[in-house]
Amino acid sequence: MTHKSSDRGKFHEFVDRYRTFLLTTHINPDGDGLGSEAALALWLQSRGKHVLILNDSVTPPAFAFLSRHVPMESFEVEVAEQRFDQSDALIVLDTSNRQRIGRLAPLLDRHPIPIAVVDHHVSHAQGFGQVNVIEPEAAATGEILYDLILESGGRLTPEIAEAIYVALMTDTGSFRYSNTDTHTHRVAADLLSFGLDPQDLHARVHSHASAGRMRFFGEVLSALELHADGRLVVLEATPEHFQRHGLQGADTDGLVDLPRGIAGVEAVVLFSEVDPGKVKVSLRSNGRVSIDHVASRLGGGGHPHAAGVLLRGTRADARSRILPELERIVASVGPREVWT
Ligand code: AMP
Ligand code: MN
Ligand code: MN
Repeated sequence: MTHKSSDRGKFHEFVDRYRTFLLTTHINPDGDGLGSEAALALWLQSRGKHVLILNDSVTPPAFAFLSRHVPMESFEVEVAEQRFDQSDALIVLDTSNRQRIGRLAPLLDRHPIPIAVVDHHVSHAQGFGQVNVIEPEAAATGEILYDLILESGGRLTPEIAEAIYVALMTDTGSFRYSNTDTHTHRVAADLLSFGLDPQDLHARVHSHASAGRMRFFGEVLSALELHADGRLVVLEATPEHFQRHGLQGADTDGLVDLPRGIAGVEAVVLFSEVDPGKVKVSLRSNGRVSIDHVASRLGGGGHPHAAGVLLRGTRADARSRILPELERIVASVGPREVWT
């Protein structure tokens, strides 16, 4: 299924036209951003292209194995200048919002490089590239790359299959979220036929938590608040929580998803403040209400059932900008069917 605003044909021409590609993804990259980079890099290399990968952030340990084929560098001014000078074209993966590529964004003004965007977010659906392959119905950017590789007559290898599988597995919450559909499962089945071990890949990605991180989850969860007759869960992670356990922002990964299992819950919001005055808001819906506009209206974005925004100010400010609207949204649907 191709989205009507997606430039797939132009993307193939874009790839044919240039020799050296620079790949990047969003800040605090996840399995989809990094898996997509690894898969695209390997495919481009198999076509005789030269590939460089430069991200704003360092690759988290959970995904380090994806960088064993093609190195993933993190931002340093001189390195970034060099990489832009060395490259003929830039491909941005898993975000269509220019600000989300972090410290690479200002370099775009000084280096007039041709840009292609491949993404599946609903917000910023126009993209900022000359070529924009933006398909919100795709569960992951990796799923779009799978289609692009096959429709170009390309062949998957076990290494490419592994990278795309990680992208799909992470963005679908291990094939549980509402973005999982028949196409996602068909793609996953084809990927597994290259000899992947789903249990091993899941463990590789999800076995990096420290005991401190579990204690941190416990502290935040034990203070969870129920709002709107139990339809909305509110969590707060404070600078003290992070400091006590020596943790950073990326350590909240997965936390906002846990209260979704509470009976009757429609949505969860996490206000996470690592550095005082900067509050990262993570929003999740259990599938009956859309919450992306709550984030996009404030400059963030995401998908109908998973979205986020970074707000400046106190947690109290962030709450007052988010909670009234969320409470209205969760109150707008009828009672949930009770499973007995
Ligand atoms: P997270 O809560 O960080 O797991 O993000 C959930 C979804 O919202 C992901 O698809 C993110 O790409 C998106 N998202 C999170 N934060 C932002 C932001 N500041 N701006 C745009 N999209 C965001
Ligand atoms: Mn992502
Ligand atoms: Mn994604």
